[in-house]
Amino acid sequence: MKLALVGIGEIARAQHVPAIAASPDWELAATVSRHGTVPGVEGFTDIDEMLAARPDIGTVSLCLPPVPRFQVAAAVLAAGRNLMLEKPPGATLAEVHILADMAQARGLSIFASWHSRMAHAVAPAKAWLTGKTVRAGRIVWREDVRRWHPGQEWIFAAGGMGVFDPGVNALSILTEILPQPVRVTGAELDIPDNRQAPIAARLQMSGNISADFDFRQSGPQTWDIEIDTDAGAMALRMGGNLLEIDGAPVTGSNDITGEYPALYARMAELVQAGTSDVDLSPMVLTADAFTLGHRNTVAPFAF
Ligand code: NAP
Repeated sequence: MKLALVGIGEIARAQHVPAIAASPDWELAATVSRHGTVPGVEGFTDIDEMLAARPDIGTVSLCLPPVPRFQVAAAVLAAGRNLMLEKPPGATLAEVHILADMAQARGLSIFASWHSRMAHAVAPAKAWLTGKTVRAGRIVWREDVRRWHPGQEWIFAAGGMGVFDPGVNALSILTEILPQPVRVTGAELDIPDNRQAPIAARLQMSGNISADFDFRQSGPQTWDIEIDTDAGAMALRMGGNLLEIDGAPVTGSNDITGEYPALYARMAELVQAGTSDVDLSPMVLTADAFTLGHRNTVAPFAF
């Protein structure tokens, strides 16, 4: 199946292009990006031009930051093409509800992808937690924004979500593996004096679950989720890739290159079945943290 990729930047180059190239399901038939291209692939700079020129392309995958994404996404669906969205699937919840309704009304597939849910140990962690009672949980998601998002000014602008850009990955795993619903009960947001979005955040959630997100981590990076239950404790480390039960490694791998191939395999399944996959629960927790959060002004930040 032919696919177009929109927004040829960090994640498109690092993950989407190689995953599509290795996929038995997909052919990268066009790109849309103002500056970026992929060698050997027809490049457009405008979404409407691409949609008009290439009626043979049935699916479009968006790798844009969240704020500019809705207009492009709506144009894709209005033109009768299936749509795959990077995480978070929009800048607001309403945007994604509208897109999901558009897709349903037109009989198209829409996939709000959460790449961290495809990490090696997420499915085994979910299986282990099934039927157990969660007593407490701790998320620690601390990374260096200068290393992973160099110069990405959008991430600290309104709608860029700041440290929730990686934090929502943790929330996407949490909402996937927990055997019970979860809600935010309180939050604290540290916002640099010269920015609009938080550089660090601490969340309290139901079930005695907490989260500690920080973009100022130097040295080793931490992407851990620990859950205590009535029948032992589990820990997911390395962004959901390694599983420990009661302190002992059980399964997983440090190799994260399987996440995007799994997303494209899932998109192929959705298109072939004529169905959609839109789970907004990680974004609901994010939005609720912004709604409930106490704001602290912290030191200005520069890349
Ligand atoms: P990026 O490199 O900053 O942006 C991707 C592309 O989007 C840019 O190359 C640019 O292409 C286009 N773009 C940027 N700002 C725009 C604007 N205001 N209006 C229109 N187009 C704009 O970002 P990224 O790191 O790839 O992230 C994109 C999405 O992927 C985000 O939602 C992010 O959460 C997600 N993601 C990122 C990572 C990562 O590690 N970077 C990992 C997983 C998921 P042109 O200028 O050529 O149009």
